[in-house]
Amino acid sequence: MPLVVVGSVALDSVETPKETRENILGGSAVYFSVAASYFAPVRLVGVVGEDWPPEHTQLLQSRGINVDGLQVVKGGKTFFWRGRYLENMNDRETIDVQLNVLADFDPKLPEECRRSPFMFLANGSTTTQLKAIEQSIGATLTVADTMDLWIRTEREQLEEMLTKIDGLVLNDSEAKLLTGEENLVVAGQKVREMGPRFVVVKKGEHGAMFFSQYETYVLPAYPTEKVVDPTGAGDSFAGGMMGYLAEQGNFEPTTLKKAMAFGILVASFTVEDFSLDRLINITREDLERRMEQYQQMLSF
Ligand code: AMP
Repeated sequence: MPLVVVGSVALDSVETPKETRENILGGSAVYFSVAASYFAPVRLVGVVGEDWPPEHTQLLQSRGINVDGLQVVKGGKTFFWRGRYLENMNDRETIDVQLNVLADFDPKLPEECRRSPFMFLANGSTTTQLKAIEQSIGATLTVADTMDLWIRTEREQLEEMLTKIDGLVLNDSEAKLLTGEENLVVAGQKVREMGPRFVVVKKGEHGAMFFSQYETYVLPAYPTEKVVDPTGAGDSFAGGMMGYLAEQGNFEPTTLKKAMAFGILVASFTVEDFSLDRLINITREDLERRMEQYQQMLSF
């Protein structure tokens, strides 16, 4: 089933202890789309400036991603983010953010996007996410991501959004910030009580936790030695998860659990190289093989 994503499309500069890359392809909606494209037809809604290299659009199209909803602002500059990873390759600092065309982003969902049964609101302002929800007429499953910035600056809008979505995906530190709870299990349940039917708390190299009215569980990350650039791991996780749900066409508890596992595995490929360099060079078979290893690892 079709899946629409609304979110940031970016040029990133990424600094790791070993290497720095300037102006590489990034953005929450980009990582999400490519990850989800292994499972379902994806439509991307976002905005870029005139500096956006056309080959980036071609790359998305080569993965079958529909970009009718990608606005190009004449004379505008694409959203820019610069991040620096610490020695442990898990913690990072944001060194620079230039919202540019993202500051005035008014998402316009083409008709097919409005009717999409699966919708993901990737990282971006909550006001923008709410505008996308208002335009949707066909979504049976709406899931959103958020981050500390919006929890701090758009708290009211976020609380409103939580009553309008089915699922929320956020980091452990963000769940704590949103609820004021230090215990992650309590924090996850508290976020769920704010509206969504399920909540996924991402824990970086430690995997992800799932919370619904009926169950709470944790899935570990796929153990990987090769971490070159963790940027986009969270968005790829969400893309793998939502892509699998859209492929299966349901969000039953067992489907959700396997979707979480696929999210974790897609993210484990993303971190193996900068930008989308690794993620675009895998196959569905690579994912299935890693799934077999992951399932074996968890059975005892
Ligand atoms: P992740 O590593 O999964 O948290 O996602 C990293 C991506 O999020 C990068 O490619 C950035 O371009 C993008 N990003 C960083 N800050 C923001 C922001 N404030 N709004 C939207 N996207 C952002």
